[in-house]
Amino acid sequence: MHDACGVVGISLKDEYCNVATSIYFALFALQHRGQEAAGISVHDGRATRIHRGRGLVFEVFDDAQISLLRGSVGIGHVRYPTTGGACLENCQPFLVKYKDGAVAVAHNGNLVNSAQLREQLEQSGDIFHSTSDTEVIAHLLVRELLKSDLQEAVKAVMRKIVGSYSLTVLMGDTVLAIRDPLGIKPLCIGQLETGLVVASESAAIDTLNGTLIRDVRPGEMVVLRQGEMKSYQLTRLHNPSHCVFEYIYFARPDSILDGKLIYDVRVNIGAQLAEEHPADADTVSPVPDSGITLAVGYHQRSGINYLECLMKNRYIGRTFIMPDQTMRETAVRLKMNPIRPHIEGHELVLVDDSIVRGTTSRRIVDLVRRAGAKKVHVRIGSPPIIAPCYLGIDMASREELIAAYKTIPGVEAVINADSLGYVSHEGLIKAIGLPEEHLCMGCLTGVYPLEIPGEKCIMAQTKLTEYLAQPS
Ligand code: AMP
Repeated sequence: MHDACGVVGISLKDEYCNVATSIYFALFALQHRGQEAAGISVHDGRATRIHRGRGLVFEVFDDAQISLLRGSVGIGHVRYPTTGGACLENCQPFLVKYKDGAVAVAHNGNLVNSAQLREQLEQSGDIFHSTSDTEVIAHLLVRELLKSDLQEAVKAVMRKIVGSYSLTVLMGDTVLAIRDPLGIKPLCIGQLETGLVVASESAAIDTLNGTLIRDVRPGEMVVLRQGEMKSYQLTRLHNPSHCVFEYIYFARPDSILDGKLIYDVRVNIGAQLAEEHPADADTVSPVPDSGITLAVGYHQRSGINYLECLMKNRYIGRTFIMPDQTMRETAVRLKMNPIRPHIEGHELVLVDDSIVRGTTSRRIVDLVRRAGAKKVHVRIGSPPIIAPCYLGIDMASREELIAAYKTIPGVEAVINADSLGYVSHEGLIKAIGLPEEHLCMGCLTGVYPLEIPGEKCIMAQTKLTEYLAQPS
């Protein structure tokens, strides 16, 4: 199961303070990372409590639930909608009780070997309540904790699980933050006036009025206890593989990921697009909201007038959460209203972050044409998405990805644009400002940093061999 989610963990200095409200606010700040379900687990020195449910953060929690979640340490999770597994059992955190206590796990990412691991665990008697790979991690951790100390136990689990994982774990009065050896999904640490926080994105730290300290390093475990932090570098690889899609679309523009402010990266991508794909147009407009920063960059570099031509209804969730194509198509109409006087008689550049299935772009081009646009030039802030993601972005299957089976002129025809330009691979890498070998670009190249069953994986050999050769 592909889970692109948001995680948080907080440890307060004062054991008499309650952490649940802060976790709740942090989850609000991470809501864009998952709208299907939310959960919080806290510990109060004696008991570990949990509340989770389906829906947006504000739908899952009310004052009464928050006040029942007593304790000064805790973790939280927002879950992204995925096809199939939308049942309550798959909501996180996962809580596993065992003879020495309880372990709650919140996971952002996707394991590529969870089916094998699960089978092995089931063979030896473990019983699972969900279809999620996070439960596999929780079981493995408990088994290892019964054999060795924390550091060795986590190391042993990290040797078994392969894939992307940014984890927050609650074990009694301790919060762990663990990032996979490739650092695929983001995870960062912040200082609060009253303790420490770890979260998927720094915007959650800002929301709590905290200060970003640094990212959790790939292969690192950070241990938070009574507001103090200890770091253990459990594995170390030469090159990380940060998810490129976080920079393109997923993360909030006000977050800093692995040293890069997403807003600036996206303005750079927009400028790069203007260089690579100039257009004879009088107006540049974003497709809101994800195209806004890109369009700013395009406008700055091209000098073409910036004017918003589409208004988004902010009270509708992302169209992606609609389970089938018919509903998705209706949702696009519901969610976007053209600003006719800005469009009529104009030659437009419309800037968006990505084309996945092509449905959104087609609808939007039709919308602005009906509103009287003379020309519609579409510019996209990512190279064509040609391959599925196996490492944590719930994108689409290969058959659904329009660029997997159509050329750029083919996509241009389907979306009915006068011209279509995607940013180049080189342009994107330059705009992000990280070395190419520090990025996972699997969805853009079909080359993954790990061995994916049945997939081409050029980088896999070097990275995985290096990983497995780590001294224990
Ligand atoms: P479509 O081409 O109709 O599948 O939709 C593409 C649009 O959906 C993009 O412009 C993004 O704004 C958004 N999008 C891209 N990837 C994702 C994703 N993994 N989850 C949710 N929305 C996405």
